[in-house]
This record gives sequence, C-alpha cells and structure tokens, in this order.
Amino acid sequence: MQEILKRRETVNGKVSPEYIQTSLAASLTLGFQQGSFHRNAKLKGLNLLLHYEEGCLGKCHFCGLSRSRQANPKGKTFIRVDWPLYPLDEIIERTKSKEQIHRVCLSMITHSRALEDTLYVVERLKEETDLPISVLIAPTLIRHDDSLAAMKKAGTDRVGIAIDAATPELFDRLRGKGVEGPHRWDHYWDVIRMAVTVFGRFHAGIHLIVGLSETEEEMVGAIQKGQSMGALTHLFSFFPEKGSPMEKHPPPPLGQYRRIQLARWIINESLGSAGQMKFDEKGTLIDFGVDVNPLIQTGEAFMTSGCPGRDGRVACNRPFGNERPSEPIRNFPFMPEKEDIEVIKEQLGISPLGSFLRKQESRSFQR
Ligand code: SF4
Repeated sequence: MQEILKRRETVNGKVSPEYIQTSLAASLTLGFQQGSFHRNAKLKGLNLLLHYEEGCLGKCHFCGLSRSRQANPKGKTFIRVDWPLYPLDEIIERTKSKEQIHRVCLSMITHSRALEDTLYVVERLKEETDLPISVLIAPTLIRHDDSLAAMKKAGTDRVGIAIDAATPELFDRLRGKGVEGPHRWDHYWDVIRMAVTVFGRFHAGIHLIVGLSETEEEMVGAIQKGQSMGALTHLFSFFPEKGSPMEKHPPPPLGQYRRIQLARWIINESLGSAGQMKFDEKGTLIDFGVDVNPLIQTGEAFMTSGCPGRDGRVACNRPFGNERPSEPIRNFPFMPEKEDIEVIKEQLGISPLGSFLRKQESRSFQR
C-alpha cells in the first residue's frame, strides 16, 4: 500500500487516500482555519470527501463537483461550501482530541479508485479513532453487495445514498441520460435494497434535495418509498452552486421546505404516512393527516436530518450547508429556540390560532 501511495503522490500530486477534503465547517472545527459559526453552532459530524485530480465522473446538473461545472477542481464547492484538502494523517490526529465530534462521514465520488480508497480510509479511522463511521456511497461503483460487506467489515456502521432527485424523470434528466451521466435511478434503489440487507433496517439513509422542480407530493412519495424499504431520509434544500448548470435555479420557497421537513419527520418517526396526507391539484401538501401543532412546537422536525452519534441524536448537523449565514436557516444545526419557532410558523403560514393560511409563495430569486 505504501508503494501505491507514494506513486500516486508523485504522479498526481495531493490525492486520496493520502489527502482528503474536509468540509469548511470541519476545517474550522479541526483548527486548520480560524473562524466561528453564526449563532455559535457546533459541528458534530466530521464530513470528509475523497479527492482526485480528475474529479467526479458524474455530470449531475446541480452538483458542485460535476464535470459539467465551469470551475477548476480546487475552486469547486459541494453542498454549498468549500472543501479544503489536508493530509489524512493530520485530519485523524486532530480529530482524536475533538470531543464535540460524534461521527465521521466519508463521501465517495464516482471514480475508479474510490472503492479501494474508501476501505483504506475507513480502516484507518476505525483503528485510530473511536468514532462511528458513515460512508456516503457512490452507487454507480457498486455492482454487488460484496463491496458493501467489505465497507462494513472495515468499520462502517451506516451508509447514505444520494438519490437527490425525487422522481425517475427528474433523476434521469439531471443525473442520468439527460446529462449523458453514468447514474441510473433503478440501480440506485437496488443499491439501497442491498445496503439495508447488509447494514440493517434504518442503518441506510437516502439524501433527497428539495427544490429540483419536483412537486411536494412527489417528494413525500420518495420519502415514503425510502421508509418502506428501511431507509431514513436526510433532507437537503437545493442551493444553486455557482458555475453549475443550475446556478440560476432558485432555492425552494421556505414554506415548501418547512412542509417537507414536517412530512419527513412524520414519516420517519412513524407518526403517520404519505397515504394519510392530502395534496391539492398542484401537488402542494395541504393536510398532514395528523395534528402538526405539537410537532411544530418542539422544533425537532426542522433540525438537520442525518446519521446519529452514539447518543442516538443527529450527529451529522452540517451547519449552514444549505444557505448563507445571512439567510433564514433551513436545517437547524441545533434545537430551534422559541423565536425560531415563531418564524417557522410564519414561514409555514400558520395563523395565531394555529390554522394553516394559504400563502402565495414567490419563487423570485437573485444571486
Ligand atoms: S447524513 Fe451525513 S453522515 Fe449520514 S451519510 Fe449523509 S452526509 Fe454522511
């Protein structure tokens, strides 16, 4: 292995597995860069990303790592923020002393070396830290469940699969044949089935991005599909990555995002199901099928959804991964406070008496 590592570094510069990208939040938390988070949010999940000179072979229309994006690989953002590159040894060393970190997640990208390097990085993390480890897998590289079993053996306890687009048509248009990309909807769901078999029910999660042009009914349908298969949903709000083909597409209106957060909470907490919810002729959620007022009041539904730490609470809290710090928070990285709940109610269009008001939501957007 040492030989391979040396050769890769000499030929290609700083690449995985010796070098790994961290999210900007992880870089700040590990002290590679100086700075603090808006509202003193604390990062609990360390997000890492494999890095290769060639980048990701996917061409997803909305993604900051896409081959179709106009930026050099080092200038690329992913899930809205920068991902600086550091030596794996140093990341591991600094992680050991950070008690606030409750989980580490390694994101693969679609690259021929990603599987082999994932196993190496997971093994190192398992041996040298006591953190639970997730892998955000690249399903297009997974052909049978042996690869997933190898990840589990190396030390992974949960996996995420980024379905992202809620319908087969949108998936195909934005990630598959429509962009001459390698990903296929049916294969992604096959890999979810495999992941549930290997890691167990609800130890696999799906990522879904709200605001790619799906209706609320379609998004709720995808969340329910995951739930029925044994996969929880980790929700993201679309953010237009500069230089990506969707840089001018607006983020979803806050009302839409809040309704989907509530629906996800109801479905994933088994408080209700998509079948009990009602939608209008445009597919907008108009009735959750359960009394949502107490759920809104606790605020948990509006927190970041992601893999848990050892205490069972969400560890992957990705502070400000879906919006600029100057904008309203979409996924709360901490428990929303009383004032936040009042704002959330307004965003949902709830009257002081607790009933829903139909609000005209503007989709106008300026960068
Ligand atoms: S929710 Fe977070 S920790 Fe879990 S797979 Fe997704 S990015 Fe990784």
